[in-house]
Amino acid sequence: MEASSVTRRSLARADPRRWAWWQLRGFLRWYVAAVPVAAFAVTSYAASQTTWHAADLPKFGLLLACGLASVAATPRSAYQGGLTMDFIPVWVLPVAILLPPVYAMVTPVPLYVLTQLRVHRGVVYRKVFTAAAMSLAYGAASVMFRAFPASVAGHSIGTGMHALTWTLAVAACEIVGGRGHHFLIVAAIKLSDPSIRLADLELNREALLAGFAEFDLGVLITVVVAINVVLAVFAVPTVLLARRFMMHPQLVAQSRIDTKTGLLNASTWEAEAAIEVTRAVRTSSPLALALVDIDHFKLVNDTHGHLVGDKVLRAVTGALRSQLRAYDVAGRFGGEEFAILLPHAREGDAMIVAERLRKHVAGMSIPVEDGNESGPQVTLTISIGVAALDGAGRELTDMLAAADAALYYAKESGRNRTHMISTPARASS
Ligand code: GH3
Ligand code: MG
Ligand code: MG
Repeated sequence: MEASSVTRRSLARADPRRWAWWQLRGFLRWYVAAVPVAAFAVTSYAASQTTWHAADLPKFGLLLACGLASVAATPRSAYQGGLTMDFIPVWVLPVAILLPPVYAMVTPVPLYVLTQLRVHRGVVYRKVFTAAAMSLAYGAASVMFRAFPASVAGHSIGTGMHALTWTLAVAACEIVGGRGHHFLIVAAIKLSDPSIRLADLELNREALLAGFAEFDLGVLITVVVAINVVLAVFAVPTVLLARRFMMHPQLVAQSRIDTKTGLLNASTWEAEAAIEVTRAVRTSSPLALALVDIDHFKLVNDTHGHLVGDKVLRAVTGALRSQLRAYDVAGRFGGEEFAILLPHAREGDAMIVAERLRKHVAGMSIPVEDGNESGPQVTLTISIGVAALDGAGRELTDMLAAADAALYYAKESGRNRTHMISTPARASS
């Protein structure tokens, strides 16, 4: 059932009348279409002007294979936080320098097709646009390299002073290719949201470091493959290591976060909750916690499939975010179970928060199909068990046991309700 709904949605997306591209506004829509059209036209012209040599094909094949291997080895989770640095240009630059321009212009196509196949959630027109922008920019870099006199650059890297000027010429071409590609994309971002401050996007440590790493790797790989193209194979692990290093802050964040909902994962929530409980005991402050479980969630999956189930999980997450205070700590505790820590909340406050959340969720309706507000909707309810510090003990484990017992009671007494058990003794009765 799930497979058939995925196939159905892919087919629906292939229909030109349903392309997400149509939803773009005004000039942006035409800009996003003009760049691929221009890339196609210029590539066709470049192909007609190319003198084809059989010896170029194995070079191209090897560099492309290394690029594909590097894309295939990128963990899929890298794209979840919006990967800014996929290092694809480090494979396009050597192609632009060592082979006629048309090769650099077609290289982004298979690399982005593979990226799209690996990350199913990507919007297709964005990939088409990004590949086309790269195609135009590195095509220009390739033409520029050929404009240098043989005494500075030329076919072969040479030795001594010539190797140095050759490398500087490559660096200048990478600036044209890399910055040109970047400029075309930034223009689209700015057109889509004029209020975006580009300085915020670009002038941060991560973005600058990543930009420099990409520039540096591209030039180094080009120098190495200019000596012998087979050496490209040695560059693949280096690129993978550099990317892993760039992803480190993201990986640390991901190890704390539940990727489906963006809430803290169970172990991080427990660790943070334990610290808050200790602090509340030490400072004699009130504290409460709530366990939330979606009612009959299995039925949502059975009726509409797991993808709609996931959408419901994210909708409940949105409800948690909108109904809780900034310093409440929410986590995904299990499949369809959430835990909320409510610092400075007494029993009565916690019940008010929980009831507000329960009523809010009971009033939600989630469209089964994205963007189809008038189509079928899922409605749902939640049950909540609440426990407060002192009333339910002075340890996190006691409070969790009491909240779990209260949740069980809420389920047993008909679901869509909030319950609280004040003491561990009563919790077990
Ligand atoms: P109850 O009211 O008693 O809580 O009934 P329920 O159906 O919500 O509870 P049950 O424990 O029987 O089923 C929970 C279901 O949650 C089963 C499981 O397949 C589903 N589930 C767990 N994690 C995920 C997830 O990440 N995505 C989706 N779509 N479903 C999930
Ligand atoms: Mg449930
Ligand atoms: Mg459950």
